[in-house]
Amino acid sequence: MALKIALAGNPNSGKTTLFNALTGSNQFVGNWPGVTVEKKEGALRGETDVVVVDLPGIYSLSPYTAEEVVARQFLVNERPDAILNIVDGTNLERNLYLTTQLAELGIPIVIAVNMMDVVTKQGDVIHIHRLSKELGCEVIEISALKGTGVAEAAAAAVGKAKMRMPESHRHHFCGSVEHALAHIEEALHHSLPAGQERWYSVKLFERDSRVQEYLGLSPETIAHIEEDIASCERELDDDAESIITNERYNYITDVIRRCYTRKNASGVTISDKIDAIVTNRWLALPIFAAVMFLTYYISVTTIGTWATDWANDVLFGEIIPPAVEGFLTGIGTADWLVRLIVDGIIGGVGAVLGFVPQLLVLFFFLAFLEACGYMARIAFIMDRIFRKFGLSGKSFIPMLIGTGCSVPGIMASRTIESERDRRMTVITTSFVPCSAKLPVIALIAGALFGGAWWVAPSAYFVGIMAVLCSGLILKKLKMFRGEDAAFVMELPAYHMPTVRNLLRSMWERSWSFIKKAGTVILLSSMVIWFLSNFGFVGGRFGMVEDMSGSILASFGSMIAWIFRPLGFGNWEASVATLTGLVAKENVVGTFGVLLGAGEVSEHGAEVWELLRQMFTAHGAYAFLVFNLLCAPCFAAIGAIRREMQSGKWTLFAVGYQTVLAYAAALVVNQLGELFTGHGSVIGTFAALLIIAGFIYTLVRKERTA
Ligand code: GDP
Repeated sequence: MALKIALAGNPNSGKTTLFNALTGSNQFVGNWPGVTVEKKEGALRGETDVVVVDLPGIYSLSPYTAEEVVARQFLVNERPDAILNIVDGTNLERNLYLTTQLAELGIPIVIAVNMMDVVTKQGDVIHIHRLSKELGCEVIEISALKGTGVAEAAAAAVGKAKMRMPESHRHHFCGSVEHALAHIEEALHHSLPAGQERWYSVKLFERDSRVQEYLGLSPETIAHIEEDIASCERELDDDAESIITNERYNYITDVIRRCYTRKNASGVTISDKIDAIVTNRWLALPIFAAVMFLTYYISVTTIGTWATDWANDVLFGEIIPPAVEGFLTGIGTADWLVRLIVDGIIGGVGAVLGFVPQLLVLFFFLAFLEACGYMARIAFIMDRIFRKFGLSGKSFIPMLIGTGCSVPGIMASRTIESERDRRMTVITTSFVPCSAKLPVIALIAGALFGGAWWVAPSAYFVGIMAVLCSGLILKKLKMFRGEDAAFVMELPAYHMPTVRNLLRSMWERSWSFIKKAGTVILLSSMVIWFLSNFGFVGGRFGMVEDMSGSILASFGSMIAWIFRPLGFGNWEASVATLTGLVAKENVVGTFGVLLGAGEVSEHGAEVWELLRQMFTAHGAYAFLVFNLLCAPCFAAIGAIRREMQSGKWTLFAVGYQTVLAYAAALVVNQLGELFTGHGSVIGTFAALLIIAGFIYTLVRKERTA
């Protein structure tokens, strides 16, 4: 049978990086039985009969979160042949807490101290031999990112697994605890699984109910050991669980004092110095706003735009369409097919692909902010603010992932323990603009606002505002009552990411965008082209001369009244909004097919001109707001359904998003009308009513249930 090595460690310790380095592409990903926590396994590189099991990132073996339950069950019940415990060398104190618990399991263990490149750079020294002696297991320095020490760590773990000889734990609790533990072991002599006595007795001392249940202890036995526990508690004047936790930390502090030499004796690292500014109570938010502004400004308004303009105007405007059309006509292709390919496919897919350069730039920046450690700070900063709005700081991570695509963003909400917070996060994640919405933002910014600097960043802030307002609105509802959950997150040290990793992350996200353009968008563009070019002419079905007689136009006109109060009651914009449900890129793709049709010489600027005739400025912004906030694409709705595991909740989520989008867009448009001197009584009244309703919801006292 294959040897099993479990990879265990804290979140953010570099586990994924190490797992990828150890297994290469031989990975199998699934779920742990019964829960939605990801399970990854892979054959160790160069070893056919060694399997590495990647346990979820955890801080302890107390079964509080689904991750901890899964990890603990695997370690205790399935007993891997060895544990490779990855610890973050820049954060030893927090990381060794888990280590002290793993060491009690009676399973051979090798410790890989990761991030050694950062430790060394800080000028700190970890005395590995001493640490190894103190902890009673082999310790190896690695840098998962740079690949140093990785092979040695794997070899050490395999060696330990083959020997099947766990070293005995070195840590001893204080006299009275050890005394109680010895009593527990003695009393349960025959009930404790061989080799695991230490772990079980500590857990029983902590009165872990799952362990009591698992061992099937009789009430008498429990009462018997309870005497020992209670007397120890009396003696140390604390409860059993806290006694254990305290002693573990005291021990760790002691170990670190002996094994870790800081260059900077005050313990203030460069990361701490940066954090003093970046997470400062007053500066944090302005800095965050400036960073996000710059990110969007650079990617959407400057560098990205130069490339996108070229792609849209020249590549998909002047170069490809005439060339393809010339070629197709030359080989005698039927006229309708030429139109389908040039106007439908190139028009629609091209309009979407044209935005790839902007996305590449945006993703590069986001990858950088994530990899250098800044995003973790944002979650920390946002926790303070989110809490005031009834949301958890943990909600920010799904939203961050959602900047790429809402589907994985929504799925990332799984790590949130509190059901209330999780549901709120699932509902609000798609408000943050995903990559598919970027083309819509860029189109509106470019065509209607002459590329004004503030449009793209403002879309991001509209998203965040929608999230915060939703927190306030939703928490007033009875179904969202509940306790606030504590937020634990460690801040990794800042470090410079490698260009290779940044490029890889940028490419992975962009590639899935490009793939979508070649599949979903391609198909949608063909359907839209067909529907916008065919219709009933004089009672007969056929190709129409003018799109206004097409099936799509009639359908669009039928629903356009819905959007009239929002300022985009024309059939083209209505249809574009609907096709956005299939994929948000379709909003742009649809305009590409509808407006780009026919003219061989057309290029972006002309499409823009046509768009300008279609909207007022505030109508265009309302269109943007509605499309940013309304029901997300079908794939994301599917993800909401999966995470909510309830049709009713899914309906609520999508309904809420759409109503909020409608209300916000209506306010934008009607106030715009009012200030440009075109306001109508009903429209202004409706807008004021919405604003008043919103303010009322905010100030209304929560009714006690
Ligand atoms: P996980 O949450 O434990 O799976 O952690 P990841 O593997 O995602 O790593 C968290 C962050 O630390 C990522 O940005 C990694 O690039 C970075 N990282 C991982 N290992 C190292 C390392 O050895 N040195 C440095 N400098 N960074 C690392």
